[in-house]
Amino acid sequence: MFEEILGNESAKELLERLVRNGRLPQSLLFTGRSGVGKKLFAIEIAQALVCTETESGLPCRKCPACVRASSFELPKEGKRDEHQRVVFSGHPDVGMIVPYNNTILIDAVRDLEREANFRPFEARSRLFIIDEAEKLSSVKDNAANALLKTLEEPSESTHIILITSRPLLLLSTIRSRCQAVRFGPIAKERIVDHLINELKYPSEDAALVAGLSQGSLGRALYTDLDKFRDLRKQMLDVVTRCCRRDSFAALMRTSEEITEPKAKDSYGDSLDILQTLIHDIWTIGKRRNAPIVNFDLRTELEELTAKADPTRLTSWLEEIETLRENLNFNLNRKLATDALFMTMAGSSGTPASRRQ
Ligand SMILES: [Zn+2]
Repeated sequence: MFEEILGNESAKELLERLVRNGRLPQSLLFTGRSGVGKKLFAIEIAQALVCTETESGLPCRKCPACVRASSFELPKEGKRDEHQRVVFSGHPDVGMIVPYNNTILIDAVRDLEREANFRPFEARSRLFIIDEAEKLSSVKDNAANALLKTLEEPSESTHIILITSRPLLLLSTIRSRCQAVRFGPIAKERIVDHLINELKYPSEDAALVAGLSQGSLGRALYTDLDKFRDLRKQMLDVVTRCCRRDSFAALMRTSEEITEPKAKDSYGDSLDILQTLIHDIWTIGKRRNAPIVNFDLRTELEELTAKADPTRLTSWLEEIETLRENLNFNLNRKLATDALFMTMAGSSGTPASRRQ
């Protein structure tokens, strides 16, 4: 089972054992960063519950029931009504709820509550997946409370798997009712191998993408290298100017560009790239030949190590982290980015995070 999912061997072993022995808990909580395969695991477990060809308890993944259980047509963005109910796969006993913008809608949870009480239509059990479960808490706990009732008195033939990359945002009462399974990052080498062997990436691209992926295959697959290289050029320019304590004007222009509404989707990527560049410079400063993420820019980055001392670099990384956390609170991106760049380029200055 789970042969086609990369990494996370101990989670595989645990879940396969639970499935094989028919001891799958009623409620499970899958945690770990996005793109490491949590949903794939959940869907394969669903297949185990619906498979019509299984003898061992493990899914064949080929019979019509298995195929249907893995085919989801997720609601379209912006269609609120489609997010107000459980979205079923091609199989009537396998469903999922997904957030609408940043919220799991209370109606979806109520629908799940209803569905969870029905007996299975075709399979031995029903399975429901709640994706991005941390978004349950955003509607003043109402949705979460409705779910609690379901988790408290689960029907014997229903399993619920909550998936989240941010478990601490879930109510502790929900967390405590689920058996948690943690999914770690996937080893970089595994991602490189997969990209080269299965997806025919050139090896330099594979190494670059895997280095950026932070152990997330999903992230690696979504990385558009051309776009990445453009953003990186821009961020390298920022770092270079900050190292040289250049004038603010050019930095403010870049801040403007990356916080424009049309760049909204790549803003987080810009911050990520900025962080990897700074971290690489710091790494080279500690040990000249150490492996770095942006290995194709080694010469440029080596030159910068001479201009920025390590304490400055680590304080920049902290500043970026603070900005990122504040983004959850509807921060004005332009002002925050201006402040970040000014702090970075400033000689000493009060850190932006403490100036507000
Ligand atoms: Zn099957």
